[in-house]
Amino acid sequence: MTAFHWLFGDQLGPHFLTPHERGPAPDTPVVMIEARSVFRRRRFHRAKAHLVLSAMRHRAAELGDRVHYVRADTYREGLRQAVGSAAVTVHHPTSRAALGFVGALDGVRVLPARGFLVPHEDFRAWADGHGGSRLRQEDFYRWVRQNHGLLMDGAEPAGGRWNYDHDNREPPPKDAQTLTAPAPFRPREDGIDEEVRHDLDRWERAGQVSFVGRDGPRLFPATRREARSALRRFVSHRLAGFGPHEDAMLAGDPVLSHSLLSSSLNLGLLDPLECAELAERAWRAGEAPLNSVEGFVRQITGWREYVWQLYWYFGESYRHHNTLGHLTPLPGWFLDLDADAVGARCLSTVLAQVRDTGWTHHIPRLMLLGSHALQRGWDPAAVTDWFHRCFVDGYDWVMLPNVVGMSQYADGGRMTTKPYTSGGAYINRMSDFCGPCRYRPTVRAGEDACPYTAGYWAFLHRHRSQLEHNPRMSQAVRGLNRLTDLDALLEQERERGEGPP
Ligand code: FAD
Repeated sequence: MTAFHWLFGDQLGPHFLTPHERGPAPDTPVVMIEARSVFRRRRFHRAKAHLVLSAMRHRAAELGDRVHYVRADTYREGLRQAVGSAAVTVHHPTSRAALGFVGALDGVRVLPARGFLVPHEDFRAWADGHGGSRLRQEDFYRWVRQNHGLLMDGAEPAGGRWNYDHDNREPPPKDAQTLTAPAPFRPREDGIDEEVRHDLDRWERAGQVSFVGRDGPRLFPATRREARSALRRFVSHRLAGFGPHEDAMLAGDPVLSHSLLSSSLNLGLLDPLECAELAERAWRAGEAPLNSVEGFVRQITGWREYVWQLYWYFGESYRHHNTLGHLTPLPGWFLDLDADAVGARCLSTVLAQVRDTGWTHHIPRLMLLGSHALQRGWDPAAVTDWFHRCFVDGYDWVMLPNVVGMSQYADGGRMTTKPYTSGGAYINRMSDFCGPCRYRPTVRAGEDACPYTAGYWAFLHRHRSQLEHNPRMSQAVRGLNRLTDLDALLEQERERGEGPP
């Protein structure tokens, strides 16, 4: 009986088909399933639906006769149509739901995960070895670099330091509207994109699915070839400037020197090791400074890998954490990405970026979108779902630690040592948003009160008893005692409610 190898829609690179003792045998027929139910279950960003379908169909076109590409209502139905009762292998899927599903099917053998650096067992041994003390991303990252010989000179970190964060937190250059970095790679659409757009229009018209956001020209790679071009262009033209302004925000330059590689990595079009190694090679060839290269390697092999590992390590119950007891549903303007309804220039600009592209870089995600949700007390599970649906690179594994842990502090500090939120002063320092804004970052009460400044104090007040014992928050909480206008501020925030700020 023929055996098949099943490729999920985020397993699209060559490393998911490499013959290997724990991979599919050479020339095994491949099955891919486009399950419509996935798009019916959630209101995804249309550009994300477009990207995923385009990438799957492009991969099928590359595989030609080797692939059996099935369009079905559900995975179960698609699998039945494609393989009947034949044996199937599949690499470890990226979500718990998918792993549970394939694990329960007769005749399906799950092979190890691909597209990540550290096997689950090795991470578990590393994490358990901490004897219950807090896991630190920095320790994990150094361990990964040592094990993979990345940016290492013998046993020492290249350049003598592990961490260049100090050089990589600069505000934007004064009075600059853009960073003037060379433009990133952008793909050109083809007939497959046209067909995808046509299908999405048809499904929407038939009322079968509903999307949010705009589906302009496709902005992110859908093929291995495009993803390699994007990686090469980033490393040779943009990596040098990546580090210093990694955390900065400019209204007129949303991308700055970021790599825009997350969707390609998460679709499986690129392998993290090839990205890190190419960056290292650029440094060794004198083409990019160490602070930028280390910053990029840290993002990929430190943060991305750590988030993947924690998703599995923390277990299924992690998604239900809500330590701060936040229960407010997301308001309609946020769900609909209605940037025009928002007066605060920072939030409006970033929400428009999400609406138009399905992407913003990590600081707008953390310190504008996530921080606003945290300050308003929005339900962390609903915030997680929103990020998952609205970002081109959003998947269950990457959302849970980043949103439940990092951004909403819903896990009570398993992932971070303090809640990530700030007043307008931080936003003003790190961006050019505040100048023309109708609100003033220094003002916390009254008509000009910045929603982030007021929201920050209201958040600290609401969780005073939980946060005052946190060594990284206690000083901020004590600051509440100095506010003579706290009652007025709290009343103002109650009145603002969930309307767009
Ligand atoms: P760069 O800044 O160029 O960084 C390089 C790469 O590092 C990224 O491509 C990405 O693969 C990786 N990376 C860096 N930080 C993280 C991280 N915390 N988690 C995972 N990968 C990381 N990333 C996603 O891939 N998908 C998401 O759905 C996602 N949601 C996020 C939600 C919140 C609230 C926050 C704070 C972060 C989230 N991130 C997510 C991480 C990060 O914001 C994006 O990976 C990054 O902005 C993507 O743009 P880039 O490719 O230009 O990244």
